[in-house]
Amino acid sequence: MPRFRAILDTMPAYRAGKAVVSADGRSYKLSSNESPYEPLPSVVEAVARAATTMHRYPDPAATALTEALAEHHGVPAEHVALGAGSVTVAQQLFETVSEPGAEVIYAWRSFEAYPLLADLAGATSVRVPLLGETHHLDAMADAITPNTRMIFVCNPNNPTGTVVQAAELEAFLERVPENVLVVLDEAYREYVRDPGVTDGLTVYRERPNVAVLRTFSKAYGLAGLRVGYLIGGEPVAAAVRKTTVPFAVNHLAQAAAIASLAAEDELLERVDAVVAERGRVREALIEQGWEVPATEANFVWLRLGERTLDFAEACAGEGVAVRPFAGEGARVSIGDPEANDTFLAAAAAFRKNA
Ligand SMILES: *Cc1c(COP(=O)(O)O)cnc(C)c1O
Repeated sequence: MPRFRAILDTMPAYRAGKAVVSADGRSYKLSSNESPYEPLPSVVEAVARAATTMHRYPDPAATALTEALAEHHGVPAEHVALGAGSVTVAQQLFETVSEPGAEVIYAWRSFEAYPLLADLAGATSVRVPLLGETHHLDAMADAITPNTRMIFVCNPNNPTGTVVQAAELEAFLERVPENVLVVLDEAYREYVRDPGVTDGLTVYRERPNVAVLRTFSKAYGLAGLRVGYLIGGEPVAAAVRKTTVPFAVNHLAQAAAIASLAAEDELLERVDAVVAERGRVREALIEQGWEVPATEANFVWLRLGERTLDFAEACAGEGVAVRPFAGEGARVSIGDPEANDTFLAAAAAFRKNA
């Protein structure tokens, strides 16, 4: 038998959200924070056009998309680094900082991919428990040692939907040494409505050790095509680019992302609709008697503890797939109104039967 790295035996597996089907054939996937909308016709057309040249390799530097993003955000193109989804960019970040003994700090519970990427890269994970349902930034700053290389702040946090406020973030960043990279994972930035939350793109301009991760998977509805990016200072973006597998971002994905930036107004209207549904779902849950942390993302979080798996099963019985974290809670994406109503009915029935 070939010999593999020992870490492969102990690494957690990434568990993707699954779809479920009820006995009467209903199926609502609220387990992966996807957009409930089908792609825009203009984006599908751009992909169809790009498909006619798919016998050619993609532009390895993704020049057109990089420039479109630079213009969109008002940053130099040298500050942009692309990947096949922002999870891949996160993986590249882990590769840029990891060597034996290197520590990476992140909140827990937070995005499931972080521990996996840390293990794969050979970094040591330092998990700092949430305070309530929110990043405990003071404790995260306390956890910094001379071995700390990188800190992830997931804002809004997946799976709790909570945010860190501008003043808290500023006080935290003041405590982080300049040679430690802080990554603001803003996969859900477009859903944020709380004016007290800083846009990471303003922070990175003032702090060379801060970089921002964004994705086309959520608000832009391109989860199936895999495009994400980092915006950071020149040295950070350049380091990430060095770890890219050649041609990582495929030709269709590049075309779809460019078309999505061009159709941003239409896409952001959809985000507004999801945000409105988020408010409706959260209020209805609170009315049912649930405690639901304020959420700035496209999902809600229910801390169910030992009842988590039972709850997920009850929802599955109604055709609603949620994302359970056994013993902790369930994350439920905001879908279209019909999906949300079905979920709300399942949640109400669960409370009655509990
Ligand atoms: C969904 C998500 C991502 C983005 O994943 P992609 O690889 O871009 O699809 C990144 N970070 C967090 C916290 C997420 O929830």
